[in-house]
Amino acid sequence: MVRKWSVSRDQILQTCERKYFFQYLSGARMNSRDHMLREIAILKKINNTLAWKGKILHGIIADYYKKTFARESVSVEEIVKKVRDQIQKDISSSESFLSSNLEERLERAAHGEFVLLEHLCGGKGISMSDESIAHEIEESFGAFYEWQCAEGIDDLVTKSSRCWIEPDIFGKDAPVFDLDGVSVIAKVDLAIEDHLGNIIIFDWKTGKQIENSPSRMSHPELQASIYQLWPHIKYAKELDKIAARFVYIKKENIGFAEYRIDENKKEDVIGRVRRSISRMEYFDNTILGESQMKLGDSPTLALKDLNYSFFSWACTFCQYKIVCKRSLEQ
Ligand code: SF4
Repeated sequence: MVRKWSVSRDQILQTCERKYFFQYLSGARMNSRDHMLREIAILKKINNTLAWKGKILHGIIADYYKKTFARESVSVEEIVKKVRDQIQKDISSSESFLSSNLEERLERAAHGEFVLLEHLCGGKGISMSDESIAHEIEESFGAFYEWQCAEGIDDLVTKSSRCWIEPDIFGKDAPVFDLDGVSVIAKVDLAIEDHLGNIIIFDWKTGKQIENSPSRMSHPELQASIYQLWPHIKYAKELDKIAARFVYIKKENIGFAEYRIDENKKEDVIGRVRRSISRMEYFDNTILGESQMKLGDSPTLALKDLNYSFFSWACTFCQYKIVCKRSLEQ
C-alpha cells in the first residue's frame, strides 16, 4: 500500500521502473545481507555533481533565512567562506576515491566518506576545479541575494507571522497533507505567511526552466499546485490567499515564475495525484505481488523484467547506473 506520495516519486515512476524499484520498493538497507541490496542502500545516498551543487546553494539560502528570521546578524562573506571550505573538503575527499577500486569505493562511501557519483563510477571525474565550483556558487548566491533584497523577501521573512524554512517532512509542522489516507509531501524551500494571512511559497531551482505546456500539466505546474494544496488542505487556507513562486538561479541570471490555482485546477490536480497513486499501487501490489519482488527469483516478476529508462539523460545522472550496467553485461 502506498503511504506517501510526492512529485519526485511520481516523476521517478514515469522515468524508470527500475529506479522506482531501487528507490522505493527494494527495502535496501546498509546492513542488508544481500550484496546488491547493500550496494543499492549505499548508492541511494550518492549525489551527482549537479545535485550536490544544488544542495550547497539550497543550504546557504536556508542558512541565510534562518539567521534573518532569528534577527541574527548575517554576514554574506562568512556564509560564502564556510561554503568555500566545505567545497574544498568535499572535492578532495571525492577525488581521493579515484585511487581505489569499486568495492573499496563503495565500502568507503558506506562508512560516510564523501564522494560524488562521477568519482564513484571511476570516470574522468568532474571537469571543474573546487575553485571554479566555489566561484560559480558564490556568483549564484550573490545574484540571488541582490534579487531577494530588491524583492524584499528578507523583509517578508522578518515580518512574517509564520515561516517555514526548509521544513522537515516529519512532525506537526511538516509540509504534508492527507489525501485518501496517503501523506502527500510538499517539500517546499521557504514559505511565508504575512499578517493578512497570505502565504507565499518559494522553491529555488538550479536546473533549466521548463516551459508550461497548454495541453498537459508540466512537472513544475504539478509541483507548484501540490505546494499550494498543502496550506489549503492542512490549514484550510483559501486558495486565493496562496501563491507558489519558482525562482531559477543560474549564475548571474535569476528567472521567476508564479503559480496560482483555483477550484477547477485543484480538482484537476487531485485527480492527477489519485491516478498516480493508483498506478503506484498497481505497480507495488499487482505487478510485484503482495510480498514484494525479490531481487532474484519471484513468482510474479524479477528485476530483469522491469524496464530500463527510455531516457538516456535519466541514466547519465542516475546513482544506480553501476547496477544497471552490470545487469546489462551479464
Ligand atoms: S541507470 Fe537508467 S535504467 Fe538504471 S535505474 Fe537509473 S535511470 Fe533506470
